[in-house]
Amino acid sequence: VFITLEGGDGSGKSTQAEKLEEWLTEAGRTVVRTREPGGTDFGNEVREIVLHSRGHISPRAEALLYAADRAQHIATKVRPALERGDVVVQDRYLDSSVAYQGAGRVLDADEVRRLSLWAAEGLLPDITILLDLDEDLARARLDSANKRFDRLEAEKSDFHRRVRQAYLDLAEREPQRFLVVDAALPPDQIAAIVRGRVEAFVAA
Ligand code: C5P
Repeated sequence: VFITLEGGDGSGKSTQAEKLEEWLTEAGRTVVRTREPGGTDFGNEVREIVLHSRGHISPRAEALLYAADRAQHIATKVRPALERGDVVVQDRYLDSSVAYQGAGRVLDADEVRRLSLWAAEGLLPDITILLDLDEDLARARLDSANKRFDRLEAEKSDFHRRVRQAYLDLAEREPQRFLVVDAALPPDQIAAIVRGRVEAFVAA
């Protein structure tokens, strides 16, 4: 079972990934928790490059770096895990590319999606959890956590609105794959909603 978590910075993806892993492990499943960019050694190098070169590289170059990270990650880590029957819980996947490189950086969303699917040899998640968070709350959370606030500061708020809208559009287009959860809810309540959706897949 392949589960991805999506949403903006500060939406609580890592917290939910952790909770999901804990619950699945208690239920006796073997879980591989991973992330993009950066799920492999190569991916971590790409992550360093891409996060430090922001604003200096062209949108297409950025999209290709994310795609390179994805190709390596899926081929060497995610597919083998799925073939073993493990549950993969992954922080960000192709929907991040469509939302960030597509809508955010104004590349063609369908082209970005095709590039991602090419990189990943067509692999789509079974379930994608979208933690939907409005920008003011995201800003407040990152600020109070005193972490990564510069990211939101550095980027125009319009960028975040476009990214959020792109995510919501994706969820609307594929309602059977997406579960949209209000990220403003308490973490334990979100975790319970997520478990409700994941349960059926994991039992199967
Ligand atoms: O969620 P995480 O901290 O790993 O994401 C790192 C940053 O990379 C995020 O701030 C996000 O804006 C950006 N990103 C992106 N395009 C992707 C994936 C992540 O711009 N495909």
